[in-house]
Amino acid sequence: MAERSSRSPGPASRSGMVHLVGAGPGDPGLLTVRAAELLRIAEVVAHDELVPAALLDLAPASAERIPVGRRCRGPEREWTRIHPAVVERAQAGLRVVRLKAGDPFVFGRGGEEAEALAEAGIPFEVVPGITAALGAAASALIPLTHRDLSSDVTFATAHELSGSGGRSAWPRLVSSGTLVLYMGARALAANLARLVEHGRAPATPAAWIGSATRPEERVVVGTLADLAARVAAERHDGPAIVVVGEVVSLRARLLALAREAAA
Ligand code: SAH
Repeated sequence: MAERSSRSPGPASRSGMVHLVGAGPGDPGLLTVRAAELLRIAEVVAHDELVPAALLDLAPASAERIPVGRRCRGPEREWTRIHPAVVERAQAGLRVVRLKAGDPFVFGRGGEEAEALAEAGIPFEVVPGITAALGAAASALIPLTHRDLSSDVTFATAHELSGSGGRSAWPRLVSSGTLVLYMGARALAANLARLVEHGRAPATPAAWIGSATRPEERVVVGTLADLAARVAAERHDGPAIVVVGEVVSLRARLLALAREAAA
């Protein structure tokens, strides 16, 4: 017998339900239709801090809004996989939208949340979202792959470069045609230097995109050798992502052509 899909959790009951929903990179226009529908009928919205207020506004005024991101943990770090309020509200029979930045299953620990829900016997559904790499690439006019320049793309976190597991990751990360680094804002200079140490040419084009798809979006282009210094001049405290590879050079060309076409 085929396994039941997470999308059809059985008859709607008052047993409560958690929808693990991707919010996309920030622009409300980049929500999926399903995500918007679920927000409109949510009784509880448990959201990451990264999710902009404009998205939370789609939920009914009566819906309870709970910030549950990792920075919302108490000092005693009493929970590890999912915020207890999410479980409690679902067990009380409420429809909970767990709204996660980007896609729930890309560097968002959505897998751990799904596991915790399953173990607690709470029905859940996963709704994908546009992950930051895709939102940033489109918005900054950087095609992540290109027939002549790059035939593969790797999504990694900057922690992978600097953490203890980094050593084994370097060969894979420097050999990827296009590399997208999430959580790249911290230790940017050190991380880009590591890519050079491990064999990527210092002249490799690289771009930093802050607050992609939001009104305050910023794009800074440079090379592995000078991007960090260029970014240091930016005053920005939102999320940021870094794209490394020859494809970054396409941005200038596409921007110029797009401006010409619009003129
Ligand atoms: N699940 C999310 C990623 C969570 S990790 C997703 O699929 O996008 C958080 C990291 O995502 C941030 O440190 C940043 O690198 C990236 N990020 C999320 N939103 C972003 C945005 N609007 N602009 C740039 N980077 C973003």
